[in-house]
Amino acid sequence: MTQGKGSDLAATSFRARRDVYSWGRVVRRTQRVAEPKFRDELPGLVAAARGPLLATGRRRSYGDSCLNSEGMTIDMRGVDRLLAFDAGTGVLQAEAGVSLSQIIAFAAPRGWFLPTTPGTRFVTLGGAVANDVHGKNHHRAGSFGNHVVSFDLLRRDGFQARVTKKSDPDLFAATIGGLGLTGVICTVELQLERIRGGFLDVETIPHANLAEFWELAEESAAGFEHTVSWIDAVARGANFGRGVFSRANWRPDDVIEIHGDDRTWKTLPFDAPSRLLNRYTVGGFNELYFRKCRAGAGKSVQHYAPFFYPLDAIHDWNRLYGSRGMFQYQCVVPPGAARAAIATLLREIVGEGQASFLAVLKTFGDKTSPGFLSFPRPGATLALDFPNSGQDTLALMSRLDSIVMEAGGALYPAKDGRLAPETFRRSFPKLQEFLRHKDERMESDFWRRVAG
Ligand SMILES: Cc1cc2nc3c(=O)[nH]c(=O)nc-3n(C[C@H](O)[C@H](O)[C@H](O)COP(=O)(O)OP(=O)(O)OC[C@H]3O[C@@H](n4cnc5c(N)ncnc54)[C@H](O)[C@@H]3O)c2cc1C
Repeated sequence: MTQGKGSDLAATSFRARRDVYSWGRVVRRTQRVAEPKFRDELPGLVAAARGPLLATGRRRSYGDSCLNSEGMTIDMRGVDRLLAFDAGTGVLQAEAGVSLSQIIAFAAPRGWFLPTTPGTRFVTLGGAVANDVHGKNHHRAGSFGNHVVSFDLLRRDGFQARVTKKSDPDLFAATIGGLGLTGVICTVELQLERIRGGFLDVETIPHANLAEFWELAEESAAGFEHTVSWIDAVARGANFGRGVFSRANWRPDDVIEIHGDDRTWKTLPFDAPSRLLNRYTVGGFNELYFRKCRAGAGKSVQHYAPFFYPLDAIHDWNRLYGSRGMFQYQCVVPPGAARAAIATLLREIVGEGQASFLAVLKTFGDKTSPGFLSFPRPGATLALDFPNSGQDTLALMSRLDSIVMEAGGALYPAKDGRLAPETFRRSFPKLQEFLRHKDERMESDFWRRVAG
């Protein structure tokens, strides 16, 4: 392709958009976006793009890892075909823009499910690989990348290859959790998990404090595939550290029912007032929620959709945080330091009263994540939302960073929109190995901020 033709293609295919945000909606910078519908378009777009390039999925990352305001982005959502499936082995091949929702709708009736899933099914296969996402079954299944068989990668210099752990172990490890910076993932081959039916046996157990949480986490790891706890991140005094632990296993019966139409009518159509979520409204909500869970504690049967994806019931729920948006904070701290560090973090958070009702605590298992920049590692992970109150919120999160670093932990780039370069470097000891395989013409706003 000549330079002239490439430039024409860049001008006509990459459109300036001011309505493209990540999930936190804090960063609002114009993005130049191409929206291919066919995989065959990708080499031409990659060749034609000017400046740094980034492929993006459904922009369910909270901060700036899925934004590239100083270059161009390829929105992969239209490249979304299922390509091949082996019903005997459960290996599925699909284009990277396929959503996890599409995969479940196809695979569940055939007795297969995602090997692990984040708390929303509205993410793409490529996005799940590039962030090496994790789910409630990390202590059993490890992270998403542990189940990737191969992927087709396209780099800026035109290099295109199917990559497996065997064919190119380093490029494989750099791309899993590689934040989209090794090239465009065009297709992915994924090993699914066998299921009998679409329901889970769930146990809901309120805990009065953190000590009870640790006991529950320890006693549940061997017998339960899925564990997680909602934490009341504003409760003080005698209620400090209270929460609701849930643990579950797939039911052995063979009843399948697929989740409803993703184009649900339940959408938040406007931005809520920015100060709607404050210490008092969140405190009131948490009190009611805790009481409701305590009253309904015990065993129940739940469909996979409300169990794995309770937030997906309302589209655009992020607008609840108002036009200033929100930050999510997610860290992991290693097992030896976890109890003390989680208590210190929570004390700091409760003291500030800035947290929203969305706060979860979970223990990770010791299955090694395959990526050089994979976030999941043994220990405990705390994730919570903060409405964006400007400097106060940023200062709080910096104090939390210090506690996490002191404990030898790490921050999750998929959730981040503000961490310091030094914190990023300390979070990822294999950064140098990653850098050897990064495509130097792939970048994101996140990358320029932490490593530029
Ligand atoms: C409600 C909610 C719950 C969540 N729960 C969890 C959870 O439990 N566990 C967890 O781990 N995460 C969780 N997340 C985060 C989310 O799973 C990740 O941010 C995921 O990577 C988003 O995928 P996406 O398709 O939206 O990708 P984007 O956010 O658009 O992009 C994410 C990264 O992937 C890269 N990328 C995307 N597609 C490609 C491609 N084809 N080729 C190369 N690079 C690509 C991008 O460059 C970017 O670096 C949650 C998010 C939300 C909103």
